[in-house]
Amino acid sequence: MKIKRLAHIGVAVKDIAEVAKVYTEFLPLELASTSDVGELKTGFLPVGDTSIELVMSTTPEGIMAKYVEKKGEGVHHLAFEVDDVAQAIEELKAKGVPLTSDAPRPGAHGSKVVFIHPKATRGVLIELVEYAQGH
Ligand code: ZN
Repeated sequence: MKIKRLAHIGVAVKDIAEVAKVYTEFLPLELASTSDVGELKTGFLPVGDTSIELVMSTTPEGIMAKYVEKKGEGVHHLAFEVDDVAQAIEELKAKGVPLTSDAPRPGAHGSKVVFIHPKATRGVLIELVEYAQGH
């Protein structure tokens, strides 16, 4: 597995437009894009070679809505870009690392993602993300 960079820091929010103001009004960042992924909506604010990813649920019963209800808004996960997420999954499985899925799942902007289970990472949810060519 090759880690290319810290792709983004995921932040759980109730409302992307509202929370984006923290970054665009307090700080000179820009909400560059949004993406719908299943029951989630994501908004990306580029910061140099990485991004802040705001993640909100589009349904009150969604897993992210429940997370925010229980833990409040705030930093949710770290995402590392890898060159091949399927290969990363095989390597992690071979090491016995618990994952949230056995195969790559669709992420924002056509990416493929997997999460390492936070119980194995001492409280930090870690996402591995592979971007499509040219992203
Ligand atoms: Zn993410």
